[in-house]
Amino acid sequence: MDKYDKVFELAKNRGFIWPSFEIYGGASGFYDYGPLGATLKRKIEDAWRRFYCVGEGFYEIEAPTIGVEAIFEASGHVGGFADPMTTCQKCKESFRADHVIKGEMEIPDGLKKEQMTEIIHQHHIKCPECGGDLGDVYDFNLMFSTWIGPGQKKKGYMRPETAQGMFVDFPRLLRFYREKLPFGVTQIGKSYRNEISPRQGVIRLREFTQAEAEVFVNPQFKNKHPNFAAVKDLVLPLYDEDAQLSGGEPKPMTVGDAVAKGIIANEYLAYYVALTYQFLVGVGIDGKRLRFRQHMKTERAHYATDCWDAEVLLDRFKWVEIVGIADRTSYDLTAHQKRSEVDLSVFIPFDTPMKVKKTIVTPNMGVIGPKFKGKAGKIMAALKAMKPEELDRPEVRLNIDGEEIVIPSDLFDHKTVDVEINGENVIPHVVEPSYGVDRILYSVLEHAYDEEIVEGEGRVVMRFDRTVAPITVAVLPLLSKDPLASRAAEIARGLKAAGYFVEYDESGTIGKRYRRNDEAGTPFCVTVDHQTIEDGTVTVRDRDSMAQIRYPADGLAGLISELLCTGKPLEGYGTKV
Ligand code: AMP
Repeated sequence: MDKYDKVFELAKNRGFIWPSFEIYGGASGFYDYGPLGATLKRKIEDAWRRFYCVGEGFYEIEAPTIGVEAIFEASGHVGGFADPMTTCQKCKESFRADHVIKGEMEIPDGLKKEQMTEIIHQHHIKCPECGGDLGDVYDFNLMFSTWIGPGQKKKGYMRPETAQGMFVDFPRLLRFYREKLPFGVTQIGKSYRNEISPRQGVIRLREFTQAEAEVFVNPQFKNKHPNFAAVKDLVLPLYDEDAQLSGGEPKPMTVGDAVAKGIIANEYLAYYVALTYQFLVGVGIDGKRLRFRQHMKTERAHYATDCWDAEVLLDRFKWVEIVGIADRTSYDLTAHQKRSEVDLSVFIPFDTPMKVKKTIVTPNMGVIGPKFKGKAGKIMAALKAMKPEELDRPEVRLNIDGEEIVIPSDLFDHKTVDVEINGENVIPHVVEPSYGVDRILYSVLEHAYDEEIVEGEGRVVMRFDRTVAPITVAVLPLLSKDPLASRAAEIARGLKAAGYFVEYDESGTIGKRYRRNDEAGTPFCVTVDHQTIEDGTVTVRDRDSMAQIRYPADGLAGLISELLCTGKPLEGYGTKV
């Protein structure tokens, strides 16, 4: 069993994660979160909210998971959100073409489908399932499509990312933020991608949760993040394009240096790379198994100026992307403005008004109107949009709905005047940190998983960060009889009232209950024994060190609060046992 198998066995047995629809044979790419898994996931999401919603002040919104076709036509997903696929001519199984080829030989990323078809045929690459011949490579769109309402008039898609919901809401969000940049919006929710034959367990899902922030910023100030000073000295493992090309290693570098040397494109992007590091380490990702990899120019979306992936090292899957942080420029809003014909620009006032020259065109509508009838309005608009030098001609040629129309210069007057303008309309740029919650959760599980030998016996312990552990405290009466049981139940009620996730457990030996809680990753166990009845103290045990202290039961809620906030060792409190 490799680490993935061990972690997944524990995840299934302890109620973290298991395959969906098991009684019907399951379906790859779908997993359920059990009681502890769903709780862990909520806590990771809440930690994310503390960073982005509370810390950054970005409000969270909730848009539908189904979108109308126009959204995804504008975003480019209908036309281009596809993976290369090849289908076995014999068993009819389909595969990601690049993955099948990579199973046989090394190829660079980003090959065209024609090139992959050639490689498959030339190198006689066969079906990994049955050895049959593979067909030509074609594009398989990863979106799940559906029909909205009865019949087939209105096509819809399950969203492949949460981001588009925030882009299409831009006019309302801008008004909410009182028409001022910069501002940020977040969304946590399900996204859907019909991945071709996902074989990486919980890493590649067909339904998964994303936590995304869209930060709308005036492009002029992308290199001036108001809070950059707070992160500039943070040292991060940066695996930039040069290091990748030269076969080097990630370089430890401060965020400030990375921007100053032009390695990260601007302060905004660098700030969210830094925040991502702090968040991931905060929820329990091992900082030594984390790096930030810059997208190579060849793999970057054509609109993105710079993009960094947070990657974690996993035992079986090696370096896996868990967060993407991209400077998406004005691409998304420009695309939606064009498709929707709704103005998505922001008026940015100048500090001092500017004098500019403006050409005023006065068409002779008395002639143009009757002569061109329905097209007269468009002709007038086209004339007004022209530059002075284009108007200084005996006649101007216009293209109206594909038809060339010649307007002699005596059909309009024009003059250039000085006007004062107070600002300009700008389409904001978007910097987007996009987190895959499921991959983060699995990485947290794998990085927390530990085995050790204690007094000749094996112990498996999930060393979760205390703040995200699904159960914070287990209350265990030494015996399941009164007065211990009722006193323990009373202590558990008190801790629940203080807001903690508490497990009351009275079955099995105390040693077994400790082990069970070690596997669940419960940071503290409180044992109620005869001494509790006598002097009101309990034993508190630390999951990681297994150290035990005696502490007054009445002060437990305060103690736990302090241990969660400070992360200090338990041994510094109460009296040692
Ligand atoms: P992307 O929009 O492809 O950059 O994805 C953003 C994040 O979503 C990635 O960093 C992953 O953590 C996560 N993600 C993307 N695709 C999947 C998938 N099929 N299963 C699970 N997580 C995914």
